[in-house]
Amino acid sequence: MDGRFAKMFDEWFMEMTPQEKRLAELVYEYEEKYFADFCFKPESIIEPFVEYKRKHPANGEWVKNRVTLPYEITSLAYSYYRMKVEELDEGVGGMTNVKDRVIIIPPNNIDRKNIVLHEMIHAYLAVLCKSFFSHHREVLFFCLYKDLLRKIPELDERIMFHSCEVNRNRIERRGGEHGILFLLKSLDLDLKCGFKLGTVCGNGHDEFGKQ
Ligand SMILES: [Zn+2]
Repeated sequence: MDGRFAKMFDEWFMEMTPQEKRLAELVYEYEEKYFADFCFKPESIIEPFVEYKRKHPANGEWVKNRVTLPYEITSLAYSYYRMKVEELDEGVGGMTNVKDRVIIIPPNNIDRKNIVLHEMIHAYLAVLCKSFFSHHREVLFFCLYKDLLRKIPELDERIMFHSCEVNRNRIERRGGEHGILFLLKSLDLDLKCGFKLGTVCGNGHDEFGKQ
């Protein structure tokens, strides 16, 4: 892992403002509550991919074992993401600088849960976008899709609407990549938080079904 991120994280940790401390606490709380899958925890929908059974050599009993994963993909803290509270351009709810691994939230939006969750998805996906983690991305995609299909009857239509070229361009012009895996996790968070579908992805503007 790039030592630059660890160094910047340590500096930030020593100097963070009270608002940044509060934001970081919220981020870690949300990670614990809502991102077990994105942190590859066996206590989540990805369980079959990170747990396996092996016969105990002494008594022959089957025991559960967990695979060892690269630390970097098991928590935003281990990938050295920093949380900054700064004013941003008008109309920008939050921002994730994936190059420097910083989530930036303006002071007025710290308590807007859907905005913080939105930026957190960007942060996790940016770490997973290394080719080394392509398998892990596919596992998340498969598990989330399978899980959501049972919960959202019009899931396929939502995916088609979100990813058709016209909408994809429009969404990306508004700020960054929001691919299908992004959409799936945002819908999962909408359900977990009791938000109207589309809240985490589109900051409250669900455009599905309006065209
Ligand atoms: Zn975004």
